[in-house]
Amino acid sequence: MAGTLYLVPTPIGNLGDISRRMAEMMEQADFIAAEDTRVTVKLLNHLDIKKPMVTYHRHNCEQAGAAILSRLQAGESCALVTDAGTPAISDPGEDLVALCAAAGVPVVAVPGPCALITALSVSGLPTARFTFEGFLPMNKKNRRAHLDSLRQEQRTMIFYEAPHKLTDTLDDLLAVFGGERRISLCRELTKLHEEVLRTTLEGAVAHYAGQEPRGEYVLVVEGAPEAAEEADPDEALRRVLALREGGMSLKDAAAQAAAEFGMKKRRLYDMALGKEP
Ligand code: SAM
Repeated sequence: MAGTLYLVPTPIGNLGDISRRMAEMMEQADFIAAEDTRVTVKLLNHLDIKKPMVTYHRHNCEQAGAAILSRLQAGESCALVTDAGTPAISDPGEDLVALCAAAGVPVVAVPGPCALITALSVSGLPTARFTFEGFLPMNKKNRRAHLDSLRQEQRTMIFYEAPHKLTDTLDDLLAVFGGERRISLCRELTKLHEEVLRTTLEGAVAHYAGQEPRGEYVLVVEGAPEAAEEADPDEALRRVLALREGGMSLKDAAAQAAAEFGMKKRRLYDMALGKEP
């Protein structure tokens, strides 16, 4: 009979978030598959657990996944852990779960720390309906295209972001969703320097204009308002011209005003050029 793959979440910062069941699962498993054994060994030492480990991460997941699967099929049980948080959420654990599911190997998920849920719950933004977007594409063009596809998204949106890309991402979010849109920047959750900045996209860009972002971030962004009232094109055009006077390019000004007024940016762009009445 096949063994079981246990998905064992680990703290996203605070070791006090280790649960009894998490520790039991790591203790009972025949072996642990870890994203980085150097990180996991610290956790095991803290819990006084000694257990054979293999690595399973982004760069070896195909080969390591096949090896873990054959051990499970031979009857061993495995606890899958990542550096922090819930395995399979924005990490290659999802491939291992799919592999096991396809092969009929039982998978059991232990509930526990997860950055996106922790951020959403503390964000102060609507939680009834949300969409998790993970990390945005690295490439600027693809990132903008992805954000464009979310223009009309009414659910609260959750993004993971690295500190060195935060300011570029905030600029893109502002250009697509407009400055008034609310955002909660959840930083270093459960850690010593935990901080939740609840502001607007305009406020967030201004906040980081004078300081370098540090630490780990989850961005929680308000969804688009429900069926916006018919926008006043003249008012929208005045907004484009005001943004232009502030130094913004016509393309960006049309995009931002379009997001704010729920209009097509091409239409505002043409209106600003006098091509459309
Ligand atoms: N599997 C993890 C989970 O359950 O949240 C996420 C792994 S993903 C590779 C790492 C990203 O999660 C970070 O870049 C950051 O966006 C977010 N993250 C992890 N820990 C965090 C923390 N303590 N505070 C804020 N964001 C965090």
